[in-house]
Amino acid sequence: MKHIQIFFLSAVLSLWGITLYAQTLNKDVFRLINLDYPGLAEVKNACTQGDTIKAAYALLDYYRNRTNVKQPEIDMEHITVSDKERQMADEALSHILYAHEGYQPSFYYGKDIDWTYWPVQDNELRWHLHRHGWFVPMGKMYYTTHDEKYAKEWTSQFIDWIKKNPCVDVTKEEFELTSTGEVRDVAENARFAWRPLEISTRMENQIPQFMLFRNSPSFTPEFLSEFLVNYHKHADYVIRHYSDGGNHLLFEAQRVFYGGTFFPEFEDASAWRKSGIDVLAREIKKQVYDDGGQFELDPLYHMASIEIFCKALLMADMNGLRNEFPQEFLDTVEKMIVFYYNICYPDYTNPCFSDAKRRGKDRKLVNYRIWAQLFPENEQIRYFMTEGREGKKPENLSKGFLTSGFFTFRNGWGPEATVMVLKAGPMGGWHNQPDNGTFELWFNGTNLFPDSGFYVYAGDEKIMKLRNWFRQTSVHKTLTLDDKDIRRNASVTRLWKEDGKTPILVTENQGYEGLKHRRSVFFVNQTYFVIVDEAVGDATGTVNLHYQMNAGNVNIDPKNFTLTSDYGVQSDAKLQCFAPEGTTLEEEEGWQATLYLVREKRTAVAFNTEKKDNMPVRYITIIYPTKNIKNAPRMEARFITPQFDENKLEIEVTLDGKKEKLGYELK
Ligand code: MG
Repeated sequence: MKHIQIFFLSAVLSLWGITLYAQTLNKDVFRLINLDYPGLAEVKNACTQGDTIKAAYALLDYYRNRTNVKQPEIDMEHITVSDKERQMADEALSHILYAHEGYQPSFYYGKDIDWTYWPVQDNELRWHLHRHGWFVPMGKMYYTTHDEKYAKEWTSQFIDWIKKNPCVDVTKEEFELTSTGEVRDVAENARFAWRPLEISTRMENQIPQFMLFRNSPSFTPEFLSEFLVNYHKHADYVIRHYSDGGNHLLFEAQRVFYGGTFFPEFEDASAWRKSGIDVLAREIKKQVYDDGGQFELDPLYHMASIEIFCKALLMADMNGLRNEFPQEFLDTVEKMIVFYYNICYPDYTNPCFSDAKRRGKDRKLVNYRIWAQLFPENEQIRYFMTEGREGKKPENLSKGFLTSGFFTFRNGWGPEATVMVLKAGPMGGWHNQPDNGTFELWFNGTNLFPDSGFYVYAGDEKIMKLRNWFRQTSVHKTLTLDDKDIRRNASVTRLWKEDGKTPILVTENQGYEGLKHRRSVFFVNQTYFVIVDEAVGDATGTVNLHYQMNAGNVNIDPKNFTLTSDYGVQSDAKLQCFAPEGTTLEEEEGWQATLYLVREKRTAVAFNTEKKDNMPVRYITIIYPTKNIKNAPRMEARFITPQFDENKLEIEVTLDGKKEKLGYELK
C-alpha cells in the first residue's frame, strides 16, 4: 500500500508529564468539504471507495499544489523574520509565549501548556494568548530555515490548543447559571478562547500559517484534517455569534470573508463570503459618519477600520470578487483615508486621543502602498506613499470634520509645519475618552502637547485603576469643574472657519449640569494659537484649565502663568495664560503613555479659579511654537467684550508690543 500509517486509537499519551497527541484523521473534513470542487476528484473517488486515508493524502496533495487561491496576508516570495519575530518563535519552542506587548519577558506557560494561565489580570493578556501571535513568526522561521523543530512544535501546540480549549456555546445568562466546578472553568475559559474577536483573529492568522507550514513533513494529512475541521468550527461559530457592533464586528466580518475566500472548498464557503460582505457593507454605512470619521472617534480604530475594509477589498481583488462590493463602499473607504491623512502630522503619526497608539512611519507607508493599489487615481495617497516625491499634496491646509468633531489647524504639509488637531465631537463608545476640547500640537518634528494616551486596556481592579487615570478629563488639555470628568461628550460646533489668514474654531460642550465650556481657538496668521476658554452657567466650584506638555525640560513661571519648554530639538513652545483675579497655577501629576504599559513623566499644570456664582470664568491662553525659545515673544492679552456674550467675542493680544484684535460674531 502506498500509504502506511499507524493510527492510535487513543490520541492522548501521557509521557513524562507532557500531554502528547498522536495525530488522528478527523473524518468530518470530508463532510465539510465540497468534494465536487474542481481539483478534488481524487479525494472524492477515494472517499467513495471508503479509503479515507488515501482521501486525506489526496487532499493534502491538493492543498500543497493549489495555486488558484491568492491571499494578501503574506508575500511568500519575500519572507523576512525580524529580531522580535525570531525571539517570539524561539521562545515559543520552550513554551515562553508572547501573548501581549508590555509583558516582556514573556511568561512561561508550563511544560504541558496551561492555556488558562493568567499571571496578570489584564483581560488583553488572556484574550491575546488565544490569538497565538507567535505562530506566524514560527512559520516564518520554519519557511526561512527549513528547521523542522518549528513545524513540529507548531503542530503540537495547535492540536494541544484544540484539545484543551473546547468551544462551549453558552449565552451570558447560561454562563452565570453554570454550576461551579469543572464545567464552569471550561465555560469561563471559553469566554476568552472563543470570544468572536479572538476566533476571527485566529482565522486570519491561520491563513499565513497554512501557507508557511503546508509543505512541512509535520503537516500531515491527519493534521490537515484537524486544521480544516477546526477552521470550519471557527467560521461557523463567528457567523452565529457576531459582536453587536463597532470595530469587533468589522474584524469578524472581514475574517469570515477571508475564510470563505481562502478556503472556497468548504460547502459553507460561499455563505461565509456573503455573510462577511453583507455585514461590512451594512456596517460601513452605520459606523462611518458622512465626513469619513469612524464613529468610535479613536484614531487607532479609525485606521483599523480602514485596514479591515481594505483587506477585504484586496482579498476580493486577488480572487476576482471585487464586484461583490458596491462602489459606495469604495467611496466611503477613500473618504476615511482623506479624513485620516488630515488628522496626521508630517511624520505620519496620528494624535493619541482615546485608545490610540502612536505608530511609526514604516507601518503607515505600508498602508499607503495598499491604499494606492486600491485607489490609483488618488494623487494625495500617492503623495504620502512616496513621501512627497510623486503625486500631489492636498490642496487644503486646515480642515474640519464637523460630524466627527475633529479639527485640524495646519500651515503646511512638510516637516516644519505647525499642526494642531482638536477633538470635540459626540459620544464615541467604549474607546472614546471624556476629553472634549482637548488637542495635540505638533511643530517642526515634535509633538509639543501630546495626549496622555491610554497605557492599558481592561482587567481587574488594579488594571482598571491604571487605565482610568489616563481616561480622566483632567489629564487632557481642556477645562473641568472640580477636576471631575465631564458627564457628556456632546460638543456643538458654533463656528469653523478653515480658510483665510486666521482660521477659527468655536466649540461648546455642556460637560456638566450647570456648566458649559466654550472654547474658541484662533490660529493667528497661521503661526501661533490663542485659545479662549469660557466656563458658563450657574454651577459653582473650582474651574480648572489643564495643560500638559511633552516629557522633557519645561520651565514653569508660576507668577506669570507661563510654561516654557526647552527640549533642545528646535521645537519648543511658550504658553502663557491670562486668567481672572485670584487664579492659581497648580502643578499636577503628568504622564504620557507611549506604548502599552510604557509611560513617561511630564509637566502638567492647571489654572484654578473659584467660581462662586453664575458669573462666567474666562481665560485667554497664548501658545507660541518656535524653533528658538529664546526669541519667544513677550505676551499680553485682554478681553474687549466685557463679559461672556452668547453670540460674539472680541479680544486683544499683544506680542512684543504688536497688537492684534481677534474675534467673531456668531449667527
Ligand atoms: Mg486621552
